[in-house]
Amino acid sequence: MRIIHNIKEMSEFSQEIKCKGKTLGLIPTMGALHKGHLSLIRRARKENNAVAVSIFVNPIQFGPKEDLKKYPRNLSQDAKLCKKEGVDIVFYPDANQMYPANFRTCVEVEGLSDLLCGKSRPGHFKGVTTVVTKLFNIVSPDIAYFGQKDAQQAIIINRMVCDLNIPVKIKVMPTVRDKDGLALSSRNIYLDKEERKDALVLPRSLNSAKDLIEAGIKDSDKIIHSIRRFIQSKKTAKIDYISIVDSNTLKPVKKITDNCLIALAVWIGKTRLIDNIIISKGRSLS
Ligand code: AMP
Repeated sequence: MRIIHNIKEMSEFSQEIKCKGKTLGLIPTMGALHKGHLSLIRRARKENNAVAVSIFVNPIQFGPKEDLKKYPRNLSQDAKLCKKEGVDIVFYPDANQMYPANFRTCVEVEGLSDLLCGKSRPGHFKGVTTVVTKLFNIVSPDIAYFGQKDAQQAIIINRMVCDLNIPVKIKVMPTVRDKDGLALSSRNIYLDKEERKDALVLPRSLNSAKDLIEAGIKDSDKIIHSIRRFIQSKKTAKIDYISIVDSNTLKPVKKITDNCLIALAVWIGKTRLIDNIIISKGRSLS
């Protein structure tokens, strides 16, 4: 496995792979790898001749008061995991190379980036779409893998790739959860014991919503109200948003329809967690 820090070296290596007629899968990450990331790597390993994992804590997707400085970083542990999974390349550029002093260009998907998480994290998705475009241009993957856990991100990236005719296929993999249901996230390590318990309100409130829908309740406000009451029962939990939206447009839906997304963001103490389920034909997908 090669660990590549340099952008030019990464591009050249990717071209070498492609010249040999091999396919290349990319998993963009911010590191602190867990089983959620590994599920994407395993899928990429099955579907491509070569697999690249990028590890880059992208400064421009963090707000000024967010956790850029304390975000967990552990290249040697991440590299070990990647090697074990048969990854060919770990791409680990530094921020000065990605954003030199004269950097001026951003990519923004209008009308999707300012909804849901974008409301409380202004500029976040602009940072994501900019870095993902750069990674696609540098690595030239055939397929790039993203997690359903960050549903809005996946929807925005799909839109961007389609709108800008970027020659890459996007695959979105189901959310991987701990045994008790909490969606795996690099940020879960911030939670203390009590918060870790309280964090279960995210998956549990979504499961209760799923039960209501399966029992025939279609009114979004009723479902949101029930999720809200569930979450408010926990001392450390503070709701950022609970939304039921169309899974293409991210616009709120009044009645549950096929292909809608129930998404929420909740502060557990000082940690902001997100989770979601997709409802398709009246059933939840993940
Ligand atoms: P991150 O390192 O948090 O930026 O995540 C990198 C990729 O892994 C993104 O596409 C995430 O959606 C995906 N991911 C993160 N957590 C999970 C999870 N629990 N299950 C599946 N995919 C995940």
